[in-house]
Amino acid sequence: MEQIKLAVAGARTAYNLGKTRPLEFRVQQLKALERMLTENKDLFTEALQKDLHKNQFAVEVYEMAGILGEIALAVNKLPEWTAPESVKKNMMTLMDTVYIHREPLGVVLIIGAWNYPLAIVLQPLVGAIAAGNAAVLKPSEVSGNTAQLLADILPQYLDKDLYPVVTGGPQEASELLKHPFDHILYTGSTVVGRVVMEAAAKHLTPVTLELGGKSPCYVDTDCDLAVACRRIVWGRYTNCGQTCIAPDYILCDKSIQDELVKKMSSTITEFYGSDPQKSPDYGRIVNQRHFRRIMSLLEGVNVAYGGENDEGDLYIAPTIVTDVDPDSKIMQEEIFGPLLPLVTVSSVDEAIAFINKREKPLALYLFSHNKKLVKKMIGETSSGGVTANDCLIHYSIPALPFGGVGKSGFGAYHGRFSFETFSHRRACVLKSLGMEKVNSIRYAPASDSKQKWILWLLKKRDSRKMQLIGFMLLGAVVSIIVKLFFRW
Ligand code: NAD
Repeated sequence: MEQIKLAVAGARTAYNLGKTRPLEFRVQQLKALERMLTENKDLFTEALQKDLHKNQFAVEVYEMAGILGEIALAVNKLPEWTAPESVKKNMMTLMDTVYIHREPLGVVLIIGAWNYPLAIVLQPLVGAIAAGNAAVLKPSEVSGNTAQLLADILPQYLDKDLYPVVTGGPQEASELLKHPFDHILYTGSTVVGRVVMEAAAKHLTPVTLELGGKSPCYVDTDCDLAVACRRIVWGRYTNCGQTCIAPDYILCDKSIQDELVKKMSSTITEFYGSDPQKSPDYGRIVNQRHFRRIMSLLEGVNVAYGGENDEGDLYIAPTIVTDVDPDSKIMQEEIFGPLLPLVTVSSVDEAIAFINKREKPLALYLFSHNKKLVKKMIGETSSGGVTANDCLIHYSIPALPFGGVGKSGFGAYHGRFSFETFSHRRACVLKSLGMEKVNSIRYAPASDSKQKWILWLLKKRDSRKMQLIGFMLLGAVVSIIVKLFFRW
């Protein structure tokens, strides 16, 4: 615990030295992070293979590509993101310089989950560095090989004091949370999200909570079912279903349920062969606790496909369950594993009502040729993100904010949103010390005419036309004011 204290204090001291302020330093650290990933690809693949049976494709595509893309974007856009942002002025401040200055928050804490252990910790780190913060990283102990590797390698590339990695589990995380941070970005379960927020409240530390939940997937009858099934199978079974935005369950009309099972089963065989346990592309459950939790969700349900498992190998086959009772256990919690329940509904309105009766999900998926139906569903539901006619894809677009809503979390990151999450937008007004006579209309003693002028000047602040006229008449206004109040 002394080590944690030292790590946080070290980050604070280094931050206070102003090391992170120059853009060149931030760019240099971002490039060092890029080098760390590219030069140690094999070591990371080895660790992720041990933790989650990820192969090189999964590591490069699902873990590294996003981080490298975010680094390239931040390096490229940093001058633009950090430039003072001029804003509209009101008539009272027409002669002043008014802008928003993005400044770093200070020392931030990033706590990650285990399912994409690199991306979940390093993608926010890109934003934290870009915005000029120091950041303490706490990767998940559940994917312990990756966490340890990160702790060993990161200090070899990045500033040791500014970006310390703290390994360990809930105990170490709780210890970290006793310290005052300037922001906390937490990724993980809703239950622990509450604990994090409670601890943060003690120091009035703002939080971004990237949580989970059950993400629904509606499949319309007016749909290319073969294509839909391929995309759903990809979204559900990648990383053995341990993806926060994976489609958690399907809502569909009873008339297409059998066809969906048939098409998804054949897709599973196409992707992973007739024995997915032998496929290098199929992952494993992260540990025995999660294995048993997931298997217990199968109690009392109708397994239409899959169901095979091997606890010694932490293997659960891609599994489809049908005619699922909305009140059954599998529908009460996020599955976070390779099971896909199908719940039948008789109309899109019933599907919408079903979704709206539950907590707001992290993602919503819908498959349909019918564009009106897509718009209707988006308009009548709420979720962190939506993708129509595909799965997971909204995550990969840095121009979109990634985050939840309601119980699936709040705040967002990716691309510029990461930079904004870790920046304070400082309101700046730069006046000159001149024109004191004009400014005097706001000082005591009050008078009706002073009040009238001030209210007029403030009231017109939103009108573009008035601002234009204001510019042209500024001279006249100033002279009238001076004449009225300050005859000398
Ligand atoms: P986890 O067990 O790895 O926990 C996440 C982090 O919280 C870890 O670093 C862990 O050490 C820490 N932690 C655990 N208990 C703690 C405590 N009592 N106090 C302080 N810190 C504590 O991960 P998990 O919670 O099993 O993650 C799975 C959940 O995360 C799922 O619900 C999933 O949907 C969600 N998730 C969300 C996103 C997202 O981007 N929104 C991404 C990945 C996972």
